[in-house]
Amino acid sequence: MARYISLYSGSSGNCSVVEENGKFILIDMGKSARLTNRALTELGLDIKNLQGILVSHEHTDHVSGLKVFLKNLRVPVYTGAATADYLICRDLIPSHIDVQDISFATFNIGDFTVRGFETPHDSVGCMGYRIMTGKGRKMSIATDLGFVTEDIFNNLNNVDLAVVESNYDVQMLREGPYPYYLKTRIASNHGHLSNVQSAQTTLRLIENGVNKIQLCHLSNNNNTPSLALEQVQKTAIANGIIIGNDVQVKVNRRHEITTDTEF
Ligand SMILES: [Zn+2]
Ligand SMILES: [Zn+2]
Repeated sequence: MARYISLYSGSSGNCSVVEENGKFILIDMGKSARLTNRALTELGLDIKNLQGILVSHEHTDHVSGLKVFLKNLRVPVYTGAATADYLICRDLIPSHIDVQDISFATFNIGDFTVRGFETPHDSVGCMGYRIMTGKGRKMSIATDLGFVTEDIFNNLNNVDLAVVESNYDVQMLREGPYPYYLKTRIASNHGHLSNVQSAQTTLRLIENGVNKIQLCHLSNNNNTPSLALEQVQKTAIANGIIIGNDVQVKVNRRHEITTDTEF
């Protein structure tokens, strides 16, 4: 069995692990290297077995720990072309690190096979990832996206685990303290996924046979884990679907490790 483990998730920082047989890859690193290393140690993961780091995009909550973390390591980083340029030009990554453009290609990273797909977001470029382990287990992750295109849906579909952003509750965002321009940005096609959008995607995935879903990148100010989960239940019931015991929908925790999901 492979494992997906979120170390932390949300607008204050994102990092997760995909692991099989002790070998692992990391997706994003938006909190300090110290905190990230501590979480990896807690999980019993040996840094020597880190095969590579996937970066979704250049926003601070996805990359701020990278430079210090990679200071004494030689681990390749994979991301889209524009993000790669950004990280290198802004000195957000040590110069000895091999940064690979993963757009439009399938990469072998240790025993893992990874394909990137583009997601619409207000960044220089943003990627979701579909990962197959050495033993053929499949997962995909799409975070920081304004809406789900058919291409994104197809990349999320037919997997053993799909990790999907569920950033904000529409009413909380509308009535919350954010300035108008920020509310507009978040809700735009290049912002983030609302609970409603995420629940609709989740429902379609469940209808297609995906039975493990994990919701990620919840907003601190505009969402709660129970609202995100309730929306999934409500959307399913409204469409005549009862989410049974054979389907697992879980929410990533903000500052702490979320219990691992085997897939
Ligand atoms: Zn972002
Ligand atoms: Zn983000």
